[in-house]
Amino acid sequence: MSRNCLSEGCVPSKAIIESVHKYSILKNLGEFNIDYKKIIEHKDKVQKLRYDDHARELNDAGLKILKGTAKLIDDNIVEVDTGTGTERYRAENIIIGTGADTFIPKINGSELTVTSHDFYSMNPKINYVPRDITIIGGGYIGVETGSFLSILGSKVTIIEMLDRILESMETDIIDKLIPLLPNMDVKTSSEVKSIEKYNDKLKVILNDGEIISDVVMMAAGRHPVLPEGLDDLGIKYTKHGINVNMSMQTNVKNIYATGDVNGITPLFHAAKRQSIVAANNIMAGNVPVDYFDPLAVPFTLYTIPQLAYVGILPAQAEKLGIEHHEAVYDMKKDSLAEINNEIYGEICLVFDNRMKIIGGYVIGNDAGNIINEIALCVSKGLGLRDLAEMSHQHPMSFEGLDSAARKFY
Ligand SMILES: Cc1cc2nc3c(=O)[nH]c(=O)nc-3n(C[C@H](O)[C@H](O)[C@H](O)COP(=O)(O)OP(=O)(O)OC[C@H]3O[C@@H](n4cnc5c(N)ncnc54)[C@H](O)[C@@H]3O)c2cc1C
Repeated sequence: MSRNCLSEGCVPSKAIIESVHKYSILKNLGEFNIDYKKIIEHKDKVQKLRYDDHARELNDAGLKILKGTAKLIDDNIVEVDTGTGTERYRAENIIIGTGADTFIPKINGSELTVTSHDFYSMNPKINYVPRDITIIGGGYIGVETGSFLSILGSKVTIIEMLDRILESMETDIIDKLIPLLPNMDVKTSSEVKSIEKYNDKLKVILNDGEIISDVVMMAAGRHPVLPEGLDDLGIKYTKHGINVNMSMQTNVKNIYATGDVNGITPLFHAAKRQSIVAANNIMAGNVPVDYFDPLAVPFTLYTIPQLAYVGILPAQAEKLGIEHHEAVYDMKKDSLAEINNEIYGEICLVFDNRMKIIGGYVIGNDAGNIINEIALCVSKGLGLRDLAEMSHQHPMSFEGLDSAARKFY
């Protein structure tokens, strides 16, 4: 349970990144070394704790977990291959939550590469800081991994076939983040042709050169894991995932698809919210009474420093023809940023002509926490005045929110 997030995703990657982040703050205060093996031990311990927690929760809820591979037989029957036989289950409603997996492009030598699994699973293969690493793919997984490895002394090269990294995020915002990131060589508009062994190292052959490193990480994206039986039932899907409406229903009324498998917002907290939406709509008799709002889902890029955003951002507002304004707080003047010696970045609240907050982003100290309050404003239709009138604690990172809003009140 909590498969990807706990086995090789959110929890283990952040157990490492949070430790490295603290190290990056403390190393400014004197001679200070950390032992990566100890960080890995800590990560494994956190994973174990959370697996145990989940097992207890499931047990307390009286849920039955069956280990096996499920396929859809018809719109009421699921068949599970348990390895020792098959079992059939009949249900009025079905939720598909089969997630996503690492996409491995068809490149000669891709079997020589490692993935997030090798960094973040329990007892991971990569339990040391590689001297040098080539990361194929400049999406969030590659850039987060490269960011902490660089702080720990790895020579990091990121290869991206598009003309910039973090391509799904707004260019203007990424352009503000990039100069703040730890040192990484980024090669854009560059395509990997093949990977081969080169003495005791690996050689990545590109359309425009080659790179030699100890380790090559494949972080070229993720793809939905589609269960067997979708075509027979006529359930519609694309390469991004199973098509659903915002009540999480597929085109077959009693079959829902939640989480990464629908590709809408492949994040743990989105998967959780979508599952609750599906459950509410099922309990209402397949009548939509609850909806998922992708615009209210915050995203944090756990680089060091972090970038977080939610809702409609300036370039998107422009594209949609929404008249919008920005309330900006300079993190260089923030007390907690100064305390943590992270004196850079900004908070930006995006609001419309009615002064309603429609989105926002944060770069720098505590970004991933601050964004939650902006997300609440977006989802509940709160305005700039609501933030301006809030007395956020001092000295805490959230006080930038009322400071930004007060510029207009
Ligand atoms: C390196 C990394 C870092 C990440 N960091 C973050 C983060 O910081 N924050 C965040 O919000 N998200 C993060 N994510 C994404 C997050 O892990 C996913 O969004 C989340 O796990 C999706 O949950 P899910 O339930 O949809 O799918 P999953 O967690 O993938 O679970 C799907 C389950 O279905 C099972 N399954 C598949 N097919 C079948 C079948 N036919 N029969 C039976 N079982 C089947 C799978 O084995 C799996 O157990 C990260 C992911 C990665 C890889």
